[in-house]
Amino acid sequence: MSLPEPRDEQSRVLPCHECDMVSAHDFHTTGWIECPRCQHPITHHTPKDTLTPALAMSALVMLTLSLCFPYLGFEKSGIERIMTINDASIELATFDQPILALITLLTIVILPGCYLLAILFLHYALTMKRHASISKRLIQILPTIQPWMMADVFVIAALVSLVKLVGMVEVKLFPSFWTFAAFAFLLLATTLRVNSIQLWERQLGTLQQPRDARPGHTSRSQNLSACHHCGQLQNCHNTHCIRCHHSLHERAPLSLQRVIALLLTATLFSIPAQSLPIMVTTALGKEDPATIIAGAMLFLKHGDWPIALIIFTASVLIPFGKIMAIAWLCLATRRTSPMNMKTQMRLYRVTEWIGRWSMVDVFVIAIVVAMLQIGQILSVAPGLGGIAFCGMVIFTMLASHQFDPRLIWDNQGDNLKTQESDVG
Ligand SMILES: [Zn+2]
Ligand SMILES: [Zn+2]
Repeated sequence: MSLPEPRDEQSRVLPCHECDMVSAHDFHTTGWIECPRCQHPITHHTPKDTLTPALAMSALVMLTLSLCFPYLGFEKSGIERIMTINDASIELATFDQPILALITLLTIVILPGCYLLAILFLHYALTMKRHASISKRLIQILPTIQPWMMADVFVIAALVSLVKLVGMVEVKLFPSFWTFAAFAFLLLATTLRVNSIQLWERQLGTLQQPRDARPGHTSRSQNLSACHHCGQLQNCHNTHCIRCHHSLHERAPLSLQRVIALLLTATLFSIPAQSLPIMVTTALGKEDPATIIAGAMLFLKHGDWPIALIIFTASVLIPFGKIMAIAWLCLATRRTSPMNMKTQMRLYRVTEWIGRWSMVDVFVIAIVVAMLQIGQILSVAPGLGGIAFCGMVIFTMLASHQFDPRLIWDNQGDNLKTQESDVG
């Protein structure tokens, strides 16, 4: 198999990963290129990208500083306690919650750290034109890591925990609190600039599509498959991409079956997540287990309704709403939905984006457990509800990532103009 002949025109032809439409764009366009049918941002053209490695390096420096200094501290009855970022997972491990400890450490430190190092290495390798095989592997892996980096969610969890703790103890903020917030912001800014198609173009040269690829029609209607990684259009019978060699599928295989299996697993996890205690507080020898709902109700009783609302939204509304939304989208692939395509795509994108924010609750447990350990006076232990809730969040996230949105569009035919008026 060989790469197609170059096209001579001053336009580039790109397939959309979300609706399968092939569209033509000005070759010299700078900034983001959007799909005209579903407005999915396909790629962006930045001739000399020096900002991304600069952001990644700054984020890495902030992460290193955050690990070197204390994060939060408090004083109560003459007892002082200081917590570091690492303590958020170490304390969970000491309470027989190694899985929760590992997930916390992975999502807020290890994965973001590896991601940033990979970005720096890639930009060095692509600029110096060295280490091609490692670069190709990294370009494939980066999009998989991205949704599982949750430093920004941890920052929001720290703010929720602060409100929870301020009523009990005198909380102090240490340098790492600010450097970690800066790290979360810089990490977000870095990820927003990383795009697989652009990285593959830097590695393999400008994308050359087949001469007979017609813009304004779906890849499927032209017997073509679009590579989900590098954007190469090619014969739909190929099993591997002729350009980046990644496995190629016209549609994600068994997408609906996988999504339904993952949704059922998430629903099963929701039963212990909502009924078992997520935290057990022991004050002066008296144990007080609290479920998610009981925790939200306690805030409401004390008049902290904004926090009660955040906890209720993140712990109940979002996870259950997400399960129902994905189930609805699965149904929409099998029959004509009463919703228009604009609403359905918005629903798909919101469910994909919002799922990780439910991890706020898991991180609140990690922070409160790490902070509130004052021997006999007051101690907080994680409950089994926490790990079940974490399982529920992870399986709903996996379900939305396995869903292939092109299946919804497959019901809608191939006419660009009618879809434009629908989405417009
Ligand atoms: Zn599209
Ligand atoms: Zn490819």
